[in-house]
Amino acid sequence: MSTATELDLTYDTLYIGGEWVAPSGNDRITVTSPSTLQTIGVVPDGTTADIDRAVAAARAAFDDRTGWSSWEPEERQVVLNRFADEMDARLEDTAVRTSSQNGMPIAIARQLEGGFPGMLLRYYADVAVKQEREEHRPGLLGGTSVVRRTPLGVVGAIVPWNFPQALTFLKFGPLLAAGCTVVLKPSPETVLDAYTIAEAAEAAGVPAGVVNIVQGGREVGAYLVEHPGVQKVAFTGSTVAGRKIGEVCGRLLKPVTLELGGKSAAIVLDDASLTDKMEQLFGCMLINNGQTCWLNSRILAPKSRYDEVVDTLSALANGVTIGNPLDDGTQIGPVVSQVQRDKIEGYIQKGKDGGARVAAGGGRPEGLDGYYVQPTVFADVDPNSVIAQEEIFGPVLSVIPYDTVDDAVEIANGTEFGLGGTVWTEDKERGLAVARRVQTGTIGINFYVNDPGSPFGGVKASGLGREMGPEALGYYQAIQTVYLDPPSLG
Ligand code: NAD
Repeated sequence: MSTATELDLTYDTLYIGGEWVAPSGNDRITVTSPSTLQTIGVVPDGTTADIDRAVAAARAAFDDRTGWSSWEPEERQVVLNRFADEMDARLEDTAVRTSSQNGMPIAIARQLEGGFPGMLLRYYADVAVKQEREEHRPGLLGGTSVVRRTPLGVVGAIVPWNFPQALTFLKFGPLLAAGCTVVLKPSPETVLDAYTIAEAAEAAGVPAGVVNIVQGGREVGAYLVEHPGVQKVAFTGSTVAGRKIGEVCGRLLKPVTLELGGKSAAIVLDDASLTDKMEQLFGCMLINNGQTCWLNSRILAPKSRYDEVVDTLSALANGVTIGNPLDDGTQIGPVVSQVQRDKIEGYIQKGKDGGARVAAGGGRPEGLDGYYVQPTVFADVDPNSVIAQEEIFGPVLSVIPYDTVDDAVEIANGTEFGLGGTVWTEDKERGLAVARRVQTGTIGINFYVNDPGSPFGGVKASGLGREMGPEALGYYQAIQTVYLDPPSLG
């Protein structure tokens, strides 16, 4: 087992307009390891004046008539492939920074946080090259139209702390390939990995002003959303913040993509075999310490097999290795902060008070000083209770009994969310038939892994728009129709 050493990083500048500039304010963000509770980094706390500078730089880069937005996709691809190489070269550093800040087990951080940036940059550069740029379309009335796709403009990108790199590059990939420029505002909990992005962009020769990063809090994020120099907002975070941002963008008629919260359901059918799928169950129910938007935190089990399902999930929760997120063997690390742990423990208390039965966990693991929470399984959960309706964003599962498959689908659809989900069965066709009835943006049969080649996103209060897949490119493009040849109207 290897344990990487604790970080100790100090930055005095922000990356704006291709330069490392002094922040306009004196405040600092201090990053604490949720595992050791030691300070691991200090960076400038960006202000609205820094946002003004960053938007101005992104605007200038976008408006440059021979610059990034005017290039052919092939020219941008050369730079984006170099950017990808530079991110790949920083894979381990990125993974360690992410784990150290948010408690993500390092094995997951290497794969998703370290590996996704390069893969997504290359993928979207290629999607843009292959996209038809000017389609000559025969008209319904006769004549011809030219349908063109143009980059939307300056993007304000705002991301949360749970998968800071993957969620950033789900935006950077398509927006940069489309020819947009960007101001990124990371979450205050995960500001250190964002410096890796800036260093890689600089090393790759991404033109000045195309990528700008302002570390800061909510007010700075809200200011970025409202900024008249920003044409498009790409947000990932809570439904509460997403609603506010959606309201502002509606008033301003500004395009917005919202990837928000979830309370996804795993529907276990009566023929399911679970004990041979413990890895898949872990992957869709507990990964990243329960801090994943699409997690299957509600498990719907047929009454005929209810006790067996509760036992299997309890064995899963009791069997995981909890520890330092930087240890290779750790499956569950600490949650991101004391605030987050307080919130999760508050929900565990509400579950107990509401009459649900603790089948596993329910407290803190012994011998660990950080913000750890035991993976917890609640049985006998009322589908309308608080723990079955609200997003807990921690390692807490609720097992809900059902009578018929119709009941299961109704319970699955019975929250305000619709982001992920799974169906567990030995009959794939049966699983697919049930999956089709679930109101959700994504759903898996016997496993759940987001494949970046297919669109991901939510319905209902889980969001608007899609990331991943070639579809994501269109969210950063405007469409212009040129009527070229007139129809003969008689
Ligand atoms: P959060 O909404 O509190 O913060 C997310 C980001 O938005 C942060 O950078 C924050 O500073 C900023 N922010 C907050 N309020 C803002 C406002 N009014 N205007 C502009 N910026 C604002 O969320 P969090 O606690 O950091 O992250 C957890 C949430 O993110 C969970 O609800 C989770 O489900 C969701 N999430 C969704 C997805 C998805 O793809 N659907 C992925 C990961 C996380």
